[in-house]
Amino acid sequence: MSGFTTRAIHAIENIENEAIVPPIYLASTFGQPTTFEEGPFEYQRGGNPTRANVETTMAKIEGAKHARVFASGMGATAAVMGMLKTGETMLMGMPVYGGNYRFATIELPKRGVESRFIHDFATLSDDDFDETVKMVFLETPTNPTLRVADIARIAEIAHRNGAIVVVDNTFMTPYLQLPLELGADVVVQSATKYLAGHGDLLGGVVTTNDAEIDEQVFKAQLISGGILPPMDSYRLMQNVKTLAIRMERQQENALKIIEMMREHPAVDEIFYAGSANENEAEIQSRQAKGIGALFSFTLTEGKDVKAFLDTLQIFEFAVSLGGIESLICLPATMTQGAYAPEHLKDSHVAPNLLRVAVGIEDIDDLLGDLRTALDAA
Ligand SMILES: *Cc1c(COP(=O)(O)O)cnc(C)c1O
Repeated sequence: MSGFTTRAIHAIENIENEAIVPPIYLASTFGQPTTFEEGPFEYQRGGNPTRANVETTMAKIEGAKHARVFASGMGATAAVMGMLKTGETMLMGMPVYGGNYRFATIELPKRGVESRFIHDFATLSDDDFDETVKMVFLETPTNPTLRVADIARIAEIAHRNGAIVVVDNTFMTPYLQLPLELGADVVVQSATKYLAGHGDLLGGVVTTNDAEIDEQVFKAQLISGGILPPMDSYRLMQNVKTLAIRMERQQENALKIIEMMREHPAVDEIFYAGSANENEAEIQSRQAKGIGALFSFTLTEGKDVKAFLDTLQIFEFAVSLGGIESLICLPATMTQGAYAPEHLKDSHVAPNLLRVAVGIEDIDDLLGDLRTALDAA
């Protein structure tokens, strides 16, 4: 199999007129050959050539058999968690993205589906399962504490107990981590983040090698209608072609920033994928190609978070991540604002924890901006 970026760029072959990119089809409906014969496309909600192209691209970069794209990451999560039926249980790793938490705690109970939280996957065992548990849903590294879980080990335990494993791979992307290869059954991603990468597109992706799961995910698209429209499908397909080089630059910038901040007296703790302990560092280096470009930190006691944030010029104070622009946020009140207070505490999301999403700007400018703000804190 060819390399990641070659696959991303050449996923769509045999384009008419030797065009180097495929055309965008905006049609809402497609004429059918005869009453008795179905064409490849019928009505846009069920599928269209432009969405098919980005789905092909996503499947190829993931090395997956099937991919489906949604109007947002939450559309993807909703389709996957929506496979659970009344009386079934989901084990969910904590902390997770606030929207995933919201779906599990507000939407699933309405359907008679219970969620149980797992705070540390290192201790996951057969005892965590009973016959109602049908899905394990996790993010690794976690948001925003960057704790790492061993996907292969979790998959082995879950499969032995009749449950599937779903990994939200938004933080790592298929460039750095391939959960399906590690034994997961389904990958969900917010394409809004690294995949689209330019802060101007919402999207979600579900990938799997399981034809039955894919059929259920397709039904969710068809029935609920949360599909990615043609223009956004095209833009996502184009943007993932540069995912690898963006990710390399973002990760390189993040590593240099972490190195600088480690030495700065205004910085107390720094959290990144694998920083928690040796075990997690070993898992991260085994199952991923790097630490990504996200990290969190706290200021030392007595330092002023507001003064720090107010002094920043390049880093925007905003939720989201994965774009070419550097962002910083306060998860306890922003991305995890929907959390019940006890879940915030159990997940160790401290009120003063700051999360940094590093962009592709010139490193000297990023370092200078942070140094000035840390000095002012
Ligand atoms: C942003 C995000 C989502 C939700 O995606 P949207 O595109 O905003 O709907 C899900 N999981 C993670 C880890 C995210 O960061």
